[in-house]
Amino acid sequence: MKLVLIGAPAAGKGTQARKLISKYSLAYISTGDMLREEVAKGTELGLKVKSVMASGSLVSDDLIIAIVKERIKADDCKNGFILDGFPRTVVQAEKLDELIGNIDKAIYINCPDSALLERITARETCPKCGASYNKISVPSKVSGVCDVCGEKLTQRKDDTVEAGKARLETFHKQSEPLVAYYKNQGRLFEVDGMIGIDNVTEAIFAELGD
Ligand code: AMP
Repeated sequence: MKLVLIGAPAAGKGTQARKLISKYSLAYISTGDMLREEVAKGTELGLKVKSVMASGSLVSDDLIIAIVKERIKADDCKNGFILDGFPRTVVQAEKLDELIGNIDKAIYINCPDSALLERITARETCPKCGASYNKISVPSKVSGVCDVCGEKLTQRKDDTVEAGKARLETFHKQSEPLVAYYKNQGRLFEVDGMIGIDNVTEAIFAELGD
């Protein structure tokens, strides 16, 4: 199964992806995580994308397509994969179709901006395993510590009010057209991202089937 997750920042893509990979044994591909790893390691690529990411803009289509093209060749992708944060532009979606043929489903988690900005600024993430928390609605059991791996939680550099607003704007301008793109292909499943984490998961599982 080849899935794409679409949604504005903090819509819950990462949270739902984790549930989907364990249920369907899929590889998890988060282009944001991959880029953050490069930034953390201080690689040439990391240095190149660092400021673009911090500002809330997108890195170039060519660069991200090259990364994904390599990643999906890996063995763990043979049983299928879930793409979180890619494609983010129609150019990327067209390229993906070219690379793998059609995806099975694009899952669009829809949330209003007002809720998202609140979630973005309250978000804490685990730099080691990628688990995501919200200081208000989904806190870790021990404050500031990851429930899954015990690592100290951090705030993403782009989870500030300023960068958050820029990322929402980027989403509306550059990524929202993907909704129409996949709708036209008959591959879109839209779910209300405000109904609670478990209800969103249930709706997606129901759509994909057991
Ligand atoms: P995310 O963790 O998915 O919110 O991604 C964090 C940042 O990485 C984004 O704000 C972009 O700067 C960059 N990024 C991640 N995926 C893509 C993509 N598919 N196309 C362009 N930029 C991306």
